[in-house]
Amino acid sequence: MKILVTGGAGYIGSVTVAELIERGQEVVVLDSLEEGHREAITRGARLVVGALADGANTEKVLREYGIEVVVHFAAYSLVGESMENPAKYFINNVVNGLKLLEAMRGAGTGKIIFSSSAATYGSPTRVPITEDHPTVPINPYGESKLFFEKILHRYHAAYGIDCISLRYFNASGATHELGEDHDPETHLIPLVLRVALGQSPSVKIFGTDYETKDGTCVRDYVHVSDLAAAHVLALSCHGEHAYNLGDGHGFSVRQVIDAARKVTRKEIKAEEAPRRAGDPAVLIAGAEKIRRELGWEPKRITLEEIIGSAWEWMEKHPKGYK
Ligand code: UDP
Repeated sequence: MKILVTGGAGYIGSVTVAELIERGQEVVVLDSLEEGHREAITRGARLVVGALADGANTEKVLREYGIEVVVHFAAYSLVGESMENPAKYFINNVVNGLKLLEAMRGAGTGKIIFSSSAATYGSPTRVPITEDHPTVPINPYGESKLFFEKILHRYHAAYGIDCISLRYFNASGATHELGEDHDPETHLIPLVLRVALGQSPSVKIFGTDYETKDGTCVRDYVHVSDLAAAHVLALSCHGEHAYNLGDGHGFSVRQVIDAARKVTRKEIKAEEAPRRAGDPAVLIAGAEKIRRELGWEPKRITLEEIIGSAWEWMEKHPKGYK
């Protein structure tokens, strides 16, 4: 299949590209390299450097390579930043996403697999969160993802574009070659591991007064290779679908730090800090639907495996891809 991967030089995108190449697919990556890394693109995939803001360029790329499916990762993804600068999120994640859809319409590309998020649900009224849970985002990041899902719904109904939204819970871990390298880094696991590497003195625990077992936020950490595998399964989907991608186990911030201490055998100093704006207390996936319908089976589900793989990558790449 001829596949365009937007944001294919980023964290989850690059791991998915590697998986697609491994399975013999023809992959073109469209990435602005604003946040992605050229070094993260697996050999065999073609890179086109470009931004989705340039819809005419996207349409040209779709036509030139005869693209049949778009896997759409390119977006901003930081909850905290989205609270301070919602415009950045709505412009890139919604307006530029719409330009991608228009380019697809122009070129006659009939299918899109979309990187959506558990942030579309907001603060859950029941856990685990299944796909039919109300979607009431509590931050602009989640809202931008939900708006795009709604746009996809209308594009499917009116223009027949197949659309599969994959709602990720907390992407984490690394493969032997590819890992997480954001600048600035805001995600818990890499920040904890930076302390273990001696690159920062301590990690902050954002909020210790949540209504959870130990007062800190609970998340469903899902290994990036398992996320990538779900995209491969989604290639065979037709119609309109939304699937959660998490494995149904929640771990608190303190549990993540403790697991990292075990894995790295380092002390890892943690400091209690106020809550971070926009964070729901608990996000745990009910992911039966994708298991049942597509046969997805996450393989790396323990915190030790997830953090261990991230640690292995970070020890090999203490400065990230640079
Ligand atoms: N978190 C934290 N300290 C940090 C970074 C994150 O306590 O330095 C918490 C954050 O408040 C959230 C959880 O860890 O409850 C996971 O945050 P992350 O940014 O990794 O992912 P998100 O849930 O925002 O997608």
